[in-house]
Amino acid sequence: MVKNTLMQVWPIPAFDDNYLWCIHDGQSALIVDPGDAAPVLQYLSDHKLTLTGILITHHHADHTGGILALLDVLGSHIPVYGPAHIDIPGRTQAMMEGDQLTIAAPGISFKVFEVPGHTLTHIAYFANMQANVEEPMLFCGDTLFASGCGRLFEGTPTQMSQSLTKFSVLPKNTLVYCTHEYTLSNIRFALAVEPNNANLINWANTASKLREQQLPTLPTTIGQELQVNPFMRCDQAEVIDCALRVSGEKSLPSPAHVLAVIRAWKDRF
Ligand SMILES: [Zn+2]
Repeated sequence: MVKNTLMQVWPIPAFDDNYLWCIHDGQSALIVDPGDAAPVLQYLSDHKLTLTGILITHHHADHTGGILALLDVLGSHIPVYGPAHIDIPGRTQAMMEGDQLTIAAPGISFKVFEVPGHTLTHIAYFANMQANVEEPMLFCGDTLFASGCGRLFEGTPTQMSQSLTKFSVLPKNTLVYCTHEYTLSNIRFALAVEPNNANLINWANTASKLREQQLPTLPTTIGQELQVNPFMRCDQAEVIDCALRVSGEKSLPSPAHVLAVIRAWKDRF
């Protein structure tokens, strides 16, 4: 049998709408944000994969709840990477802005971004193209969603705006592995902000068809989000006009102010 060394990424559905992403080369696997251990153990067993690492983006239970059970069953030698500035049960490797991590099996390297907003200590993992990674990949947790962004539980609109700006300069073909299937409701809101965005209207049709077939709408790409995601378009005229209308303000001095208005509107939409 020829060993498949190209990296693959598959969603493991959990809870109502979470995706636990499994990155593997046919033999060794990493899991991103295992909120629940049971579906991960089932997936690893079904596909005869060995878990060699766990990547955590932020401390919420639906992203961390399965860590200790996975270590219990599969061995406490498995490294757990997570944000440095908050306690994550089971974390062994504390990650900060600019850190590089390389995992020997499957052979893959990531760069770490600190992306406060949804939480203050949220991080994201970016894998650029490398020997066995054909397209760049971003594991962004609950910071960026397809056509939306995470709720601001801890951070400010300015922090979220800066975090999304870090993503916006990544290669446009970067595959974005968001951790929730929120796409259709995000699209409903995005259409309220930008009813005339032709790319968004097309995407609404495509995404509806995917969900009718119970298929994931993810991964998305950075290029796609720059075209359809109002939270990554806070410098665009139609998004600014909408924010002015919703807020009743005469002017909004920065994209972060625009983001603040539309994020608050989304919270009550
Ligand atoms: Zn969260």
